[in-house]
Amino acid sequence: MNCTNCGHLNADGATVCASCGAALGVAPPSPPPAAAPAPAPAYSAPAAPAPAPIPNNLVWAILATLCCCLPTGIVAIVFAAQVDGKAAAGDYDGARKASENAKLWSWISLGLGLLGSVGYFGLAMIGAIADAGNY
Ligand SMILES: [Zn+2]
Repeated sequence: MNCTNCGHLNADGATVCASCGAALGVAPPSPPPAAAPAPAPAYSAPAAPAPAPIPNNLVWAILATLCCCLPTGIVAIVFAAQVDGKAAAGDYDGARKASENAKLWSWISLGLGLLGSVGYFGLAMIGAIADAGNY
């Protein structure tokens, strides 16, 4: 019979291949069954992970209002005040949106405040120059 391993023709009744030494009459040993896949880790994510706290940007809104441009700062404060209330009510999308609006209006306030300052100083300079020309 032919060796299943190397194909060497062995005498009938031989139990071991004369050429390579493999056992005859039996299929080459199949590889051991693949180890069962490791069980999924026992750890499982909580069903409802606690949402990350949403910054309400109230500080920015107040600073912008105090330092810069009042009306837009008030808009920022209104949005900032909505953040915590909406988050507490479970309206996380609304809270996040209000948070973004609060930040946006804070920046708008800051920008308008800066523009106003630049404009004020620009006018003051022009006025000073005009005054200087009168002397
Ligand atoms: Zn053989």
